[in-house]
Amino acid sequence: MTSLPLIPAISAAPTARRASMPPQHLADLDLAGRQALVAGLGEPAFRAKQVSNHYFGRLVRDPQAMTDLPAATRERLADQLLPTLLTPVRELACDDGATRKALWKLHDGALVESVLMGYPDRVTVCISSQAGCGMACPFCATGQAGLTRNLSTAEIVDQAVYLAGVAASGAVAGSPPRLSHVVFMGMGEPLANYNRVIAAIRRLVSPAPEGLGLSQRHITVSTVGLVPAIRRLASEDLSVTLALSLHAPDDDLRDELVPVNQRWKVAEVLDAAWDYAARTGRRVSIEYAMIKDVNDQPWRADLLGRLLAGKLAHVNLIPLNPTPGSRWDASPKPVEREFVRRLRDAGVSTTVRDTRGREIDGACGQLAAAEDTDTNTDRAGEAPA
Ligand code: SAH
Repeated sequence: MTSLPLIPAISAAPTARRASMPPQHLADLDLAGRQALVAGLGEPAFRAKQVSNHYFGRLVRDPQAMTDLPAATRERLADQLLPTLLTPVRELACDDGATRKALWKLHDGALVESVLMGYPDRVTVCISSQAGCGMACPFCATGQAGLTRNLSTAEIVDQAVYLAGVAASGAVAGSPPRLSHVVFMGMGEPLANYNRVIAAIRRLVSPAPEGLGLSQRHITVSTVGLVPAIRRLASEDLSVTLALSLHAPDDDLRDELVPVNQRWKVAEVLDAAWDYAARTGRRVSIEYAMIKDVNDQPWRADLLGRLLAGKLAHVNLIPLNPTPGSRWDASPKPVEREFVRRLRDAGVSTTVRDTRGREIDGACGQLAAAEDTDTNTDRAGEAPA
């Protein structure tokens, strides 16, 4: 049994990274904030709109391409408004180019990852909200390493803007060029970095030039179930989709799989989820990783069905992506099919998530974990794939 993992990992090892926030970036600020910053630099306030339009509207970040700005001030404005936050360390593609995974190094050396997924009708990015994670779910690669630090608002937003630019360049064959969906299912627990995640969502949904202009309904925030934060999210003027990582319908098992359950039990977290659904009218997505002989028994499907029947909920079963060295495996397909059948018989809408990115360490945190291992075993010079 795992104990409550809410204390960030603080290591005294000489290689330990100091948690340090990055320089301020325009995506940290709303438009009024950017205008005040630009005015403070002695520039006309409308320059804030111009730079914002390049960044959010045209997905351009190279100051030399901003030809409507006087050449003399371009560099200075870019230095202040668009400092480099994400440096690509590896970019990997699979699924015939429809899935692209990016591993970024942040200004302090911390590693985070994002995934761009193209479908015939939409383009989704999966982004990280923290470097590492303090929630310690034992089946999750990110959970094993602990929390390094929260990401800044702009570090969160920049993952989406950067990959929106990659999509716009036509890199995702067979998909529309415009980014349409964002899911907070990368590294970290978004609701543990609440204020910055909310600010990031506001940037993602504000129309250009203030933001990226995505639909609120196309943004999904996935959480282990921090009940007070779910309730707070319900009171924001936002109608984003809530995904709840349930993974077990009973407290005994959920206490182990999602250790924060020791604080907020299944009944409490579902209560908060139904209140969220009622307040926003949005169906809650119940995430359930199918782990062989751990949480995939028919009786657990039936119990889950009873908990969810008649609720504004959809179950998303995720075949477990085993982390290296894990004692757990994905459920066999016949077991998965029986689980789906029982949920549907209970009247619960259920789908099995596609397993995008498996061959590029698609599971949460695996790419960063692999990179860390490479670095620590002196294989960092390996050519990126
Ligand atoms: N901290 C948030 C968001 C990040 S993880 C959360 O827990 O919801 C996004 C989803 O991937 C969560 O449902 C998480 O439980 C799941 N996940 C993590 N590791 C996984 C693995 N090895 N196999 C399958 N799903 C995994």
